[in-house]
Amino acid sequence: MRAQPVNIIGAGLAGALLAILLARRGFRVTVYEKRSDPRNTLPENGRSINLALATRGIRALERAGVMDRIHPLLIPMRGRMIHELSGTTALLPYGQRENEVIYSAGRAPLNRLLIEEAALHPNVEFRFGHSCVAVSPAENILRLRDGNSGREYDTQLAPTIAADGGGSAVRKSLATLGLLNEREEPLDHDYKELTLPSINGHHALDPNALHVWPRGGFMLIALPNPDLSFTATLFLARQGPRSFAALGTPQAAQEFFGAQFPDAVPLIPDLLAEFAANPQAQLGTVHATPWHITGQVLLLGDAAHAMVPFHGQGMNAAFEDCMMIDTLLDRHDDWASLFENFESLRRPHAAAIAQMALENYIEMRDTMRDPKFARHKALALELERRFPDRFIPRYAMVMFHPEIPYGEALRRGAVQTQILDELDAKSNDGAKVDFALAEKLVLERLQPLEG
Ligand SMILES: Cc1cc2nc3c(=O)[nH]c(=O)nc-3n(C[C@H](O)[C@H](O)[C@H](O)COP(=O)(O)OP(=O)(O)OC[C@H]3O[C@@H](n4cnc5c(N)ncnc54)[C@H](O)[C@@H]3O)c2cc1C
Repeated sequence: MRAQPVNIIGAGLAGALLAILLARRGFRVTVYEKRSDPRNTLPENGRSINLALATRGIRALERAGVMDRIHPLLIPMRGRMIHELSGTTALLPYGQRENEVIYSAGRAPLNRLLIEEAALHPNVEFRFGHSCVAVSPAENILRLRDGNSGREYDTQLAPTIAADGGGSAVRKSLATLGLLNEREEPLDHDYKELTLPSINGHHALDPNALHVWPRGGFMLIALPNPDLSFTATLFLARQGPRSFAALGTPQAAQEFFGAQFPDAVPLIPDLLAEFAANPQAQLGTVHATPWHITGQVLLLGDAAHAMVPFHGQGMNAAFEDCMMIDTLLDRHDDWASLFENFESLRRPHAAAIAQMALENYIEMRDTMRDPKFARHKALALELERRFPDRFIPRYAMVMFHPEIPYGEALRRGAVQTQILDELDAKSNDGAKVDFALAEKLVLERLQPLEG
């Protein structure tokens, strides 16, 4: 395998990390990236400015030996800070242990650092400004375009790993050839980013929380940046009475923000200018089958399974994909069997996190405002304290327990919700939770977790 040079399409988050992992194993790697070199240019607009990094992603970054350099870029967030319409705030911790936090990371510095680390390896070559335009497995051709000269040229396809994101040119090319079925399931809600600058040299809000203004059907969130600003994101329907389409004038936008997020408005001094200028971007889930063509091409990260961002797991899952490739390299000595095994092992878990990401949107914008949500959350934490080897809240399984695959988190989460529903139904207003029943249900229905 090492005799064959490996092509990676896309030097985004997954492509750059994969280049490091393959280089450390002695592979010769060429990374084709359509953008210009981010080490010399300002970040391009169009993707989220910051992201939440959690344990699954951290584990993969540790595997690549880069976590020491990444730590200084991170801001820990220990829970969701809920902003009510009245202005009251309350912190809902993500977990109950000190290390159960997630981290806000800037996309551009994180991506740049991974590229810098990959470029330290003499067996990695980056070709910035070169985009994949098509693949032809029948002819074993990878077609590229040099963005500077406009020249198109071909190189050998096998083996190519496509990490070219949700709009993957490799995926679309394979679909055009009838070698793959793809379906992009758009969300009917879009997003737009806004800035909360620092105030007197401090963050405008508590920097150690992910701030959420849940309003039922839509929401505003804000994540802290190391430059003391926050990036806020409005998630809102594209069409309808309460939608981006209804906010076509500065007056409509001003009234909407003033009515819905009165405590945030004074913190966004350029609200109207930013609202008019910043892109309104789309979200969605990508379904593709298969992800690989024998030993020639494999899709991973968003190219294979882009998801909506509400669980903060797209990048984490893409990093976990890279780690799985690294792990499988110990077990396979040809790309065809490795790609096949990767797809069969990973597909159910990618589907599970895509589903949980959609469900989390409903939780963040709607359910969180329901008193039943707070009761369930408190009870789930109590059950975790009493039965730590069996009951772990689903959010914690996804964010803090990389040893539990996504599919298992989804399955156990459904069983746990049923237990919570049964206990909640029995403990009528004010009555105490029946912990004898809780113990019976947990022991009967949840097998102990391994490890
Ligand atoms: C609003 C929003 C918020 C998010 N928040 C989070 C979060 O909090 N936590 C989290 O884990 N995830 C989050 N995500 C998801 C995360 O951004 C993605 O899952 C992640 O970027 C996937 O990494 P990737 O490397 O697969 O794709 P990308 O990061 O998109 O990288 C793809 C790369 O391929 C390049 N490329 C594209 N086409 C070509 C071509 N034809 N030829 C060559 N190169 C090409 C692109 O320029 C890019 O560099 C969020 C996403 C959005 C939209």
